[in-house]
Amino acid sequence: MKILEVKDYNHMPPINRYAITWEINTLCNYDCDYCDLYGKEVSHNTDKVVEFINYVGTLKNVKLTLFGGEPSLHPLILTVLSNLKVKVEMYTNLSKSLSFYDKVIKIKPDIELETSFHPSREKFDTFYDKVKYLSNKVSKLEIVYMLDTNYLTYKQDYLKIKELCSDSVSSIIAKVEHSDQKQLSEEDEAWYLEEQSGEDINIAYEDNGETKTKETISNYLFANSLNHFKYFMCGCGVHNIFIAHDGLVYPCLDYRRRSVDPYFGIHEDDFKKEFKRISTKGIVCKMNSCSSELGVPKKRVLNV
Ligand code: SF4
Ligand code: SF4
Repeated sequence: MKILEVKDYNHMPPINRYAITWEINTLCNYDCDYCDLYGKEVSHNTDKVVEFINYVGTLKNVKLTLFGGEPSLHPLILTVLSNLKVKVEMYTNLSKSLSFYDKVIKIKPDIELETSFHPSREKFDTFYDKVKYLSNKVSKLEIVYMLDTNYLTYKQDYLKIKELCSDSVSSIIAKVEHSDQKQLSEEDEAWYLEEQSGEDINIAYEDNGETKTKETISNYLFANSLNHFKYFMCGCGVHNIFIAHDGLVYPCLDYRRRSVDPYFGIHEDDFKKEFKRISTKGIVCKMNSCSSELGVPKKRVLNV
């Protein structure tokens, strides 16, 4: 299968939408073995970043993802949430007590949560009780189960999580990337690939000389090694940006991860002028593999 285009994504309303991901800190209390995002940094001068995000919110239909590390550990997280005037989604490992999440929902009643379960760091039953409680409280809840082959209950755990799914609750199972991982049995591998289905993105691909399309999820591309978009024209900038903990703005997380070409710095530059410059044209991807914003529209421009 040769990917020609990631056409669109439907996790946000289609009109004038704009996704911003803010790595509000890299600090996390879990330090998972497979994590390359974990660090000790915490965003300072959050007021300026909030000002920038609210400014973009006056121009576009913004959805902000608070990302980490573990965003709930930022000392000013509740103040930041109070001051944001855009739609917010927050990633969290759910390690805080439920009373913390109750406070978050009180401040932002329409907040969406993307929760992740890490078997080496948390007991499944504790995590499950929390997602069960939150499944009736938040407008949208996504539950990501990290499949670590050192913890063999993944199938039964994930099936239990799937029972919570509804119009407002969804789930994903994703393999962790670490050298100590064992190969899944043939049966479990087939089950895992079968679980990579959904209707978040629309892809066009070439198959035996024919062009076909398919509705799927971002992790389908990753799980099937279809995430190589070097030289594709990507909608980063036009559709989304990534704000790092130090206020530098990148096209996406992969660019931040490899410290390639930030667009500008919120704290140093005229952010209104810079945003206008970057939000009108896409970029030609320089990365060998895309691991984060897979669902952002992108199109093959060279037939390689
Ligand atoms: S919980 Fe998430 S951010 Fe924290 S160390 Fe684990 S993978 Fe990294
Ligand atoms: S790595 Fe970034 S620029 Fe490249 S395709 Fe992925 S999202 Fe787009």
